[in-house]
Amino acid sequence: MLLAIDIGGTKVASARVENGTVVERRQLPMAYDEAGFAGVIAALSAGWPAPARVAVCTTGYIDGGRVRSVNRDIIRFWDGFALADQLRARFDCPLTLINDGQAAAWGEYTARRTPLAPAPPANLLFITLSTGVGGGLVLDDRLRAGPHGLAGHVGHAGVRLAALDGATVCGCGRSGCLEMIASGTALARQARAAFGKPVTSAELFARATTDYLADAILSHAAQAVAEAIGGLHMIVDLQEVVIGGSVGLADGMLERIRCALDCLALRAAPVLSAAQLGGDAGLAGLIALDTAGAQRGDIE
Ligand SMILES: [Zn+2]
Repeated sequence: MLLAIDIGGTKVASARVENGTVVERRQLPMAYDEAGFAGVIAALSAGWPAPARVAVCTTGYIDGGRVRSVNRDIIRFWDGFALADQLRARFDCPLTLINDGQAAAWGEYTARRTPLAPAPPANLLFITLSTGVGGGLVLDDRLRAGPHGLAGHVGHAGVRLAALDGATVCGCGRSGCLEMIASGTALARQARAAFGKPVTSAELFARATTDYLADAILSHAAQAVAEAIGGLHMIVDLQEVVIGGSVGLADGMLERIRCALDCLALRAAPVLSAAQLGGDAGLAGLIALDTAGAQRGDIE
């Protein structure tokens, strides 16, 4: 049995997988501290048989079995957390650790490689617009994690646009990051500045159908996403860009990004598509990697 676990900024999902098929799936809110996290992992696997393998994808990147956060504001206790040790104390079996955007990229890539697909992409960028902005990169049919596990962290790619509320410094310590403009957190922050009161990103989307200012904030975020895509496309030659996450899949966001991308007039522009697997792309990617028996340097 494979135990697959997807650790996000706000939730943790687990799947009991037999022969590549999900037998049972569970989900709980992400914990606020280390002790709470141990309880979440225990609850997500309680009553299941001892796994033969454990595969985990997580926000942040993996460095020697510890998690490193690019944006330290997302989960407070996460940066430097000894995730591999914590999991090995509970599960006595081989362990795989990988970034969640990378796992989701592999899930979406695998979902497009069906017998009926006319021309599945060899180069695919997955972008999740959610609490933060994450991503993963498949190049020449291989998932790229990179020597530091950082590959595909498109949220911290620099864009030429500025956040509409004047905020400059990203949670990663740099300025000019896509995440400062297009994450759900950033949308709420810019909306609060624009409207003078708290507005969630979900409320922003609802307002955007009738409110010019709300529409402008979303279109500006879409333009920033397009900028990041355009910059990366000219470096690695993308065939398909997949947009996921609660913000990315919200009403009208994909169309806004497509419109902004059209305005960039890119050579050999990549196909833009919506994520097919929703919130389960990370788990699907873990299962696909396990099924393929993938062994790469970034995997423990
Ligand atoms: Zn950043």
